[in-house]
Amino acid sequence: MTYQDIDPVKLSQSLIQCPSVTPNQAGALDLIQKILEANGFDCTRLPFKEKDTHEVDNLYACWGNGAPNLCFAGHVDVVPPGEKSLWEEDPFSGKIVNNILFGRGAADMKSAIASFISAAIKYVDEIKVNHSGTISFLITSDEEGPAINGTKKVLEWLNKNNIKIDDCIIGEPTNPNKLGEMIKIGRRGSLTGRLEVFGKEGHVAYPEIADNPISKLINIVKVLNEEKLDNGNQYFQPSNLEITTIDVDNEITNMTPLSAKAVFNIRFNDQHTSDSLKEWLNKVCIQHSENFKLDISVSGESFFSGPGKLSTIVAQSINDELGVDPELSTNGGTSDGRFIKNFSNVVEFGLIGKTMHKLNENININDINSLTNIYFKVIKKYFS
Ligand SMILES: [Zn+2]
Repeated sequence: MTYQDIDPVKLSQSLIQCPSVTPNQAGALDLIQKILEANGFDCTRLPFKEKDTHEVDNLYACWGNGAPNLCFAGHVDVVPPGEKSLWEEDPFSGKIVNNILFGRGAADMKSAIASFISAAIKYVDEIKVNHSGTISFLITSDEEGPAINGTKKVLEWLNKNNIKIDDCIIGEPTNPNKLGEMIKIGRRGSLTGRLEVFGKEGHVAYPEIADNPISKLINIVKVLNEEKLDNGNQYFQPSNLEITTIDVDNEITNMTPLSAKAVFNIRFNDQHTSDSLKEWLNKVCIQHSENFKLDISVSGESFFSGPGKLSTIVAQSINDELGVDPELSTNGGTSDGRFIKNFSNVVEFGLIGKTMHKLNENININDINSLTNIYFKVIKKYFS
């Protein structure tokens, strides 16, 4: 099998036809491995499992030798399609209608994986000799899920085996509306807080002997809601706390409840860490209540990998192909970049995110071909 066989659009279709809802790879990793092996890549399958979690299959593939190692990272798993009958085309058919490829994973992010495979194989085919450095793939089937047995564990495995990644491109859909408009060079962190404030139940006619937790919760939530966490900076928008629910579940109209709960999420930039925020949250709660429980879960710290060699190469390649200068941004949700940033420079660039996780997820096939050209230029510039 040579580059000629690796049409990125056809490969995108084949990958979409694998119904790889997290954590199942459903044949997608097998297909990628088959293609990469046929083109001289060394492939290692890395299934991981932990107690009380699903086993997750992962793939690390590499071609060439030594440094620098340019890695493409991505995920073959997809979110569930939802109500299939509401889709215009079957979400796992990979059907193309008027140049538009439909299917779950079309945008996020099977077509980007197909593009990078096609670009890498074209490069390998063209270069054959006189190459120093490594092209690698780190592909997981658990990015949309708990992400416990996926990219994080592969990185630990690489580290244990003294395999170093220098620069990493993640193929997440980074463009809001048009290919080439946005590269991501960092991400905000995300923290969820679950707060329960306790009081004493009592009759509303005798508030002096009751201890109403709702009043205390309101005071806390008011501070959390009004506090300006920062003003943002050149690359990050301001950090933001959103209260997602407030619950008391008290159906009795003449009694105060025993406890009151609120849940909130903070998306924070690089001016905070989850630890600094935890400290602030605890301080606010202590000021307004002596009896509360605050559970905090952190799904990722913020990171910033700065404008550098890799983002410059990606931006130049986009400009060469499309004639536009992409914005270097850090907005949006978290990605596996939160793990990779501890091991490598990270830049994210993929397709258009407008339809991801939605009904009728789709991508224009011209964009798949352009992305392939951009990735090819990136690889060429990177190793030249
Ligand atoms: Zn994704």
